[in-house]
Amino acid sequence: MTVEKTDILVAGGGVAGLMAAMSFAQIGYSVICVDPSPPVSDRGDERADLRSTAFLMPAVEMMQEVALWPLLAPHAAELRVMRLCDSGGVENGIREQVDFDAAEIGYERFGWNIPNWALRDTMIGHAERFETLDLRMGRAVKSMLARTNAARITLDDGARIEAKLVIAADGRNSLIREILDIPSRTTRYGQKGIVFAARHPEPHDGISTELHRTGGPFTLVPLPDEGGAHRSAIVWMETGPNVADLMALDDDAFSAAATQRSCNILGPLQVEGGRRSWPIISQQAESLIGARTALIAEAAHVMPPIGAQGLNTSFADIRALIDAAGRNGIGSEQMLDDYAQARQRDITLRERGVEVLNRAALTDAQPLRDLRRSGLRLLGGLAPLRHAAIRRGMGLG
Ligand SMILES: Cc1cc2nc3c(=O)[nH]c(=O)nc-3n(C[C@H](O)[C@H](O)[C@H](O)COP(=O)(O)OP(=O)(O)OC[C@H]3O[C@@H](n4cnc5c(N)ncnc54)[C@H](O)[C@@H]3O)c2cc1C
Repeated sequence: MTVEKTDILVAGGGVAGLMAAMSFAQIGYSVICVDPSPPVSDRGDERADLRSTAFLMPAVEMMQEVALWPLLAPHAAELRVMRLCDSGGVENGIREQVDFDAAEIGYERFGWNIPNWALRDTMIGHAERFETLDLRMGRAVKSMLARTNAARITLDDGARIEAKLVIAADGRNSLIREILDIPSRTTRYGQKGIVFAARHPEPHDGISTELHRTGGPFTLVPLPDEGGAHRSAIVWMETGPNVADLMALDDDAFSAAATQRSCNILGPLQVEGGRRSWPIISQQAESLIGARTALIAEAAHVMPPIGAQGLNTSFADIRALIDAAGRNGIGSEQMLDDYAQARQRDITLRERGVEVLNRAALTDAQPLRDLRRSGLRLLGGLAPLRHAAIRRGMGLG
């Protein structure tokens, strides 16, 4: 069988892999992107992934660069304010809140929130239009042999490909990471996140609210109105046994429990379209690079869904890869070192920030819950500290 040659092979056509593939194709590299999921038209329930993703402005700018943004804008809800609340008192109610307003640092908005089902399908449709991008849905990487001058990849249909650079975007259980023998550290919190969308009588006004109480944060993120109803995407983080109890409730009982946990800030919540639970973990690969290979997104780092950091960190990986490719030869040792150096510190800082917030939310002891409240009050009162936190959270340095 002949060996196909390409500049870049992207393993994984999730949101991060597709974005990397489009960004490199846009600047003229030949790219093959493979993913074992079936093509969009062959999938059953188009709204099966109930998650949504809050994209911060640096990520939105990357989507604009590949002309993807106009296609996604109709599905997007604006995020103007991120509100952090402490509801960890003895009574169920908000004890302290601090608003991070994009206007405080001269931005109209932090970003936009998009349901995952709309995101992935739109991205796949758009990726098919790039001349130098060969998208192979329904195909997986089976093996790889990476040498200093190129990487040889075999797909599950027997196709053999030689690439100057392999981008491993094949998720938290990355096969490429395993082939390269790169260990990863995993932290389990005994938590799960219940993901669902809900209708509510009060408008969200572009405010994303994180309510911290024992068990984990309860986060409401704006969705666009539909059929005249106000809607939000919700991630409810809780300890495993509590999640099992909540998942066993019928929709009406679950909606009532969610309304209570939300401190009723948007009025009674009515869950729509089902719910799913996701395990909450942190994971970090011990190296971001191997011969001719760069690890990005969840293949490199997984973090709890707090502060919209997960995929936005992944987009920052892609930006750093493009910059490193511009300064060095594609896939060269210098390029890969450059990439690893540019990303390691930022990834670690973001992971630590999310970890601290999650541990603070998990804590059961009342004195520690009161300490969390004091921390919020301090942040609310000190504008420079708050502005620094906003800029850091948005990935603006
Ligand atoms: C509840 C929840 C809410 C979240 N909310 C946000 C948010 O608001 N903002 C945010 O920034 N992040 C958020 N995240 C994180 C975000 O969803 C993840 O970072 C993102 O989905 C991971 O993208 P990925 O492309 O790395 O991985 P995946 O989406 O897992 O994609 C990996 C792909 O690799 C493919 N693959 C696997 N094996 C192979 C192989 N051998 N060959 C080829 N392909 C392969 C898989 O089929 C898959 O399509 C959230 C996460 C959760 C759990």
